[in-house]
Amino acid sequence: MKTIAVIGAGVTGVTTAFVLRELGYKVTVFEKQRYPSIVTSYANGGQLSASNAEVWNHFGTILKAVTWLLKKDAPLKINFWPNWHKVSWLAEFLLQTKNYKKNTIQTVKMAIESRKYMQKIVDDAGIEFDKSNCGILHIYKSHREFEHAHRVNELLALGGLERRRLTENEILTIEPNLEKKFVGGYYTKTDSTGDIHKFTSNLARVAMDRGVNFQQSADVKSIKVLGSEVKIKFNCKDLQDQIETFDMCVICAGVASHKFAKMLGDRVNIYPVKGYSITVPLPDLISQKKAPNVSLLDDEAKIVTSRLGKNRFRVAGTAEIAGHNLDILEARIQPLKNWVESNFPEVSTKDAQPWAGLRPMRPNMMPLVSQGKEPNVFYNTGHGHLGWTLACYTANMVGELIIGSDT
Ligand SMILES: Cc1cc2nc3c(=O)[nH]c(=O)nc-3n(C[C@H](O)[C@H](O)[C@H](O)COP(=O)(O)OP(=O)(O)OC[C@H]3O[C@@H](n4cnc5c(N)ncnc54)[C@H](O)[C@@H]3O)c2cc1C
Repeated sequence: MKTIAVIGAGVTGVTTAFVLRELGYKVTVFEKQRYPSIVTSYANGGQLSASNAEVWNHFGTILKAVTWLLKKDAPLKINFWPNWHKVSWLAEFLLQTKNYKKNTIQTVKMAIESRKYMQKIVDDAGIEFDKSNCGILHIYKSHREFEHAHRVNELLALGGLERRRLTENEILTIEPNLEKKFVGGYYTKTDSTGDIHKFTSNLARVAMDRGVNFQQSADVKSIKVLGSEVKIKFNCKDLQDQIETFDMCVICAGVASHKFAKMLGDRVNIYPVKGYSITVPLPDLISQKKAPNVSLLDDEAKIVTSRLGKNRFRVAGTAEIAGHNLDILEARIQPLKNWVESNFPEVSTKDAQPWAGLRPMRPNMMPLVSQGKEPNVFYNTGHGHLGWTLACYTANMVGELIIGSDT
């Protein structure tokens, strides 16, 4: 049986390990943290959203971003301290506007396919993760934004996604708890939501039961390829460095994938794009009744929401280009609380739990599933704003790539 090391136990690493085990490999997952799924795959927006497949490399979005830079509570913040990685990433991001349409269509196709692969994994592993087939409702307050949404919808339809265009009254029928006035919306019945942390940590447990070895608190220091062998040097709990040898490895290390690729002679341009969320507890009957049941995406505020079970409501958003920094800034959390208070005034944000995570983002916003320069190195990483939506699809893709290279 061939041996494979998977680096990282976020949603991409755990789904990859699960798929590879089912394909008959002997898999070891290396995770720096003590537990799986506690870095970016922890408290994200919760949306499994083919309807959010639009990539951000669009001239209109970039122009809007420029105006946002002057606003303190805007959805985007850039730290302008120069740094070669940031500057080169931003330059490549701008160049990718030429692929906006193609990449949006390809992303929606992957997101639709991913639903099937997720269902297969969930049925096989029998895991629970507060999944809700509530659909995702995109809401628009301005005619200009709504017109852009019609153009995006044409691209999503080319990728095979069916959505319903809604009037304001129809929006309120789908989500009667909404307070604000909207000019229109789109509803994607086939999208869903769930808790990424529950999914990933429960899947990791099943993978362990089926023989995947999890090396936790194992900080991978270096990866070297020597002919047909991959040598992983790692450190567990500050004891002496250890080295283990494998036939292959798959890099699923989120924002750290950039660093590992460099060690392996590959260029994988992933920049950390920080986002924030709040998890609002709904302890009493009033808040449970007044919080939305459907998942929302406010395109203007760039805020997504998910109801996680009866008594949790997750609200996420914002993009901050500020390097590997996980500080939780109150100035970025407050707009999320304000959004809840203005749209759902009877839901208390008093005990909202703030969180920040780094989206592993490539300049073209597409995940990377590929073989490295060395034939026994593979990548499944760079899923940006849609890692939860796409992970089951790309895990399967990398599995097929490995099987193909191994025959
Ligand atoms: C605010 C926010 C909202 C979001 N909302 C959504 C959403 O609604 N829907 C959606 O589809 N996506 C969403 N995303 C994106 C999604 O959460 C990410 O794309 C996904 O979690 C990335 O998973 P990953 O496995 O690539 O990275 P991670 O979850 O970060 O996993 C990488 C792992 O590698 C480990 N690692 C790193 N270095 C080492 C080392 N040296 N040794 C060993 N292990 C190492 C890390 O500890 C980590 O556990 C959101 C992201 C954010 C930040």
